[in-house]
Amino acid sequence: MTALPVEASGLVKLYGSLRAVDGISFAVRDGECFGFLGPNGAGKSTTIKMITCLSPITEGRLLVDGQDVRHEARAIKSALGVVPQDDSLDPDLPVRQNLEVYARYFGLSKQQSAARIDECLALFQLQEKANEKVDDLSGGLKRRLVIARALIHEPRILVLDEPTTGLDPQARHHVWQKLRLLKSQGVTMILTTHYMDEAAHLCDRLVIMHRGKILTEGNPHALIREHAGDHVLELRLGPEERSPLLGELSGVPDVAIEEVEDIVYVFGAGEVAQRIAEAIGDPSLAFLRPGNLEDVFLRLTGRGFLD
Ligand code: ADP
Repeated sequence: MTALPVEASGLVKLYGSLRAVDGISFAVRDGECFGFLGPNGAGKSTTIKMITCLSPITEGRLLVDGQDVRHEARAIKSALGVVPQDDSLDPDLPVRQNLEVYARYFGLSKQQSAARIDECLALFQLQEKANEKVDDLSGGLKRRLVIARALIHEPRILVLDEPTTGLDPQARHHVWQKLRLLKSQGVTMILTTHYMDEAAHLCDRLVIMHRGKILTEGNPHALIREHAGDHVLELRLGPEERSPLLGELSGVPDVAIEEVEDIVYVFGAGEVAQRIAEAIGDPSLAFLRPGNLEDVFLRLTGRGFLD
């Protein structure tokens, strides 16, 4: 039986007295897209750095491709394709040569490398750009090139640290489409993101991190159903209009109310929420919308994701 792509138990990373990663356990299954979602500073990148053997673990156990990160960094690195947050491309070299440098690093022969580079360029629709200087590419094309580069040695696991941060919506969708294609080809993917729509769109399973800990784990849609319900009522009302409504809502069984600054989020109010939204009749004041991963985070921490 092949080992799980990643298995972590009781994983800790200390920076001085800061517990950047605070005793987390998780397992990534073969062929899935597994996400780390959380606000800035949650510990996502630190976890990725430990998985990719760029940063030693402080405590616990971490196996990648069945091998211990403490002792097998070299073997692990060849099983991983890594897409770092910053592109780290050579700006002066043409696209093709950027890939050649990588192929050499992973020990591919000249012949193997030429064939593999052609495949990767084609997969990411970069053939026509092969001879252009990296500096002349758009942000979206650079991202595609970095993902292509990570696949040169046909790794078992692709690790992506915030793959679409800084891209415009069209470029983001293009990257998503390519990642879905890779997944359909059986590549295991691990990604970090602070975009909830990205996590919901790409991940089969994810963990939500906060202050170094895992708050919850599961399929994004199942998590939304469990913690936020199908619909959430958002109220943007002044204190006077707000309080009688909150009085009425608090009497509904299983309802949950979270107040974040000037917005009140109401979970699980069913028909009562619908009736209130219709009675107010102005979506800028009372908005009934589907639940999302931000709501899951809010329910678990009592505060907004991006604060
Ligand atoms: P995320 O990727 O979720 O934004 P990080 O893993 O980058 O979070 O950071 C987690 C915590 O660890 C933050 O408080 C951050 O300031 C701290 N941190 C990250 N890298 C270092 C470092 N090299 N030295 C000291 N503290 C760090």
